Amino acid sequence: MPLYPDLTGASRGIGAAIALLLAEAGADIAVNYRERSAEAEQVAAAVQALGRRAIAVAADVSDNAAVTPMVSTVAAQLGPVDILVNNAGIALIRGIDDLTEADFDQTIAVNLKSAFLCIQAVLPHMRAQGWGRIVNISSGAARGAGGVGLHYNASKAGMEGLTRGYAARLVKQGITVNAVAPSLIETDMVKSGLASSPSRIPLGRFGTSEEVAQVVLMLVGNAYTTGQTLPLSGGMSFN
Ligand code: NAP
Repeated sequence: MPLYPDLTGASRGIGAAIALLLAEAGADIAVNYRERSAEAEQVAAAVQALGRRAIAVAADVSDNAAVTPMVSTVAAQLGPVDILVNNAGIALIRGIDDLTEADFDQTIAVNLKSAFLCIQAVLPHMRAQGWGRIVNISSGAARGAGGVGLHYNASKAGMEGLTRGYAARLVKQGITVNAVAPSLIETDMVKSGLASSPSRIPLGRFGTSEEVAQVVLMLVGNAYTTGQTLPLSGGMSFN
């Protein structure tokens, strides 16, 4: 079966690595991004260089008015979506006393509501085919203290609840829903402010985006795993 993933937030970091690994595995890719069109076009070009079809598609996935046309564009240009990776996320570093209501709402909208909106939009495609794979990118912060803030913890814990809720309801329809929970992967998100050092990590280094992509690919290829969260943390935590 041809694979048509829609990847949110794939212009850089973990999302870009997932796009390339899924393309190597034979998938055509919709590379979603929010504002960095040049980076997204580069990822799409790299996918095409692997011999797969790819489009870059702008959409703020926290806004249903953008998600609906994004999914229509992907379906029209690549075909029905049968793999969805909800990867888009933001990490606004805030303490208890400087966290505003706007920060909280934005974090929940981008990190959690976006997954709900995208899943709802692609479910008709997956149900029609009787096959689908949904992978939500959570974080070790869903279960641990985390370095970003309680709003981020809440958004990622919600992502894991959403994962189990959909998994239970879609299990008889050929659709699996899982989450991947990385901790401290060397991307812009970690480099741009998290006061983190590899010395905190028992393995002695940050993880790579490619290592997260490997776990996503494994979940896409596995029909018997659903409703699970797979952590990767270099030995920092054990679930
Ligand atoms: P990143 O380097 O900051 O990249 C974020 C990506 O999300 C970019 O492609 C960005 O698009 C996109 N994005 C942000 N808001 C968006 C929106 N409203 N609509 C569409 N796209 C949006 O982040 P990353 O480290 O690769 O993180 C990817 C995911 O992994 C996030 O969900 C993050 O919470 C999670 N995660 C990361 C780590 C880590 O250590 N890095 C650990 C645990 C979990 P633009 O380029 O257009 O801005």
